[in-house]
Amino acid sequence: MDCITFMAENYVGKELTSLRMKNIDWSSLSFQYIKTDYNVRCYYRGGKWGELETSTSEEVSIHMAATGLHYGQQAFEGLKAFKGKDEKIRIFRVADNAKRLHDSAEEILMAPVPEELFTKAVLKAVELNKDFVPPYESGASLYIRPVLYGTGPKIGVGPADEYLFMVFVMPVGPYFKAGFKPTNMMIARKYDRAAPLGTGKVKVGGNYAASLRASHAAHKGGYSAVLFLDSKEKKYIDECGPANFFGIKNNTYVTPKSESILPSITNKSLIQLAEDMGLKTERRAVLLEELETFEEAGACGTAAVISPIAQIDDVEVGKSYVFAKDGVPGPISEKLYNKLRAIQYGDEPDVHGWVTLLE
Ligand SMILES: *Cc1c(COP(=O)(O)O)cnc(C)c1O
Repeated sequence: MDCITFMAENYVGKELTSLRMKNIDWSSLSFQYIKTDYNVRCYYRGGKWGELETSTSEEVSIHMAATGLHYGQQAFEGLKAFKGKDEKIRIFRVADNAKRLHDSAEEILMAPVPEELFTKAVLKAVELNKDFVPPYESGASLYIRPVLYGTGPKIGVGPADEYLFMVFVMPVGPYFKAGFKPTNMMIARKYDRAAPLGTGKVKVGGNYAASLRASHAAHKGGYSAVLFLDSKEKKYIDECGPANFFGIKNNTYVTPKSESILPSITNKSLIQLAEDMGLKTERRAVLLEELETFEEAGACGTAAVISPIAQIDDVEVGKSYVFAKDGVPGPISEKLYNKLRAIQYGDEPDVHGWVTLLE
């Protein structure tokens, strides 16, 4: 891009920003796509990654035979930036997301994005759109969506020769508009999300396509989400669609271990915080029957941190597991939730080195 175009783009960008800033009602944001000013892109061609480019376009031009369109060669990430009381912008655990996208890419034979490139792209996307990071008081945040897919044409099944890595961002509301309240979930026995030796452990779009029918059924039944059992035996707890599961009993934080669970960075953080609070922690196979013994249960992920679970219905079997009777989350879930949010917003010290400050 030449200098004049860059200046013109920059100018247009500033105009857009000031226009948009007036229009955003931070308190009414939900988890929805909103256009921001810029996104960043990087192309993998001829066996190497190119320069990081800045774009103001919401569109990508893609070859009709791209593997990302036909054969599911696609992976993504989700992380957030928060504005503190001190007006500083904090990005949560970006290095962990970089590592995870690297793992996802390797699993489905895509060109992995070098971790430094990932971090640089995320920081740049936030920096360019920093006027869209919601103010501290709103309880909202900036959601960051990195995505990688095969762009090279291929009709015989195989990995593409070319890839596009891009990062776009959007302000999103606090997940719990009505406050931090438990909801009901449904066990999906009729559906599997991922096979035991399949792609469940990586963040690829294909897993989401496979889970859409189950979550649709759950929403139709009045449930907030689905809890998947292990696909092979239907005996163990796997995870909740886009979030990991945890239960609490006898001062212990328990989360399932399985080959088909996506390693949630929120879960990893909660395990650490639980240990810091003096809880025991266990990552192990969790039998469905064990649900009866949990005092608290929740789903965890970047979007909500923790979604406390009121009740889990095993609809086909006609059995219910109840955790929160009066619409109140369990005390340990609430403590963990508050602690993690406090670190993300900079209200409490970042003792584990999870936060990257945007300078
Ligand atoms: C992204 C994701 C999660 C949550 O991971 P976080 O890193 O905590 O956001 C859980 N399960 C699945 C299947 C996911 O794709």
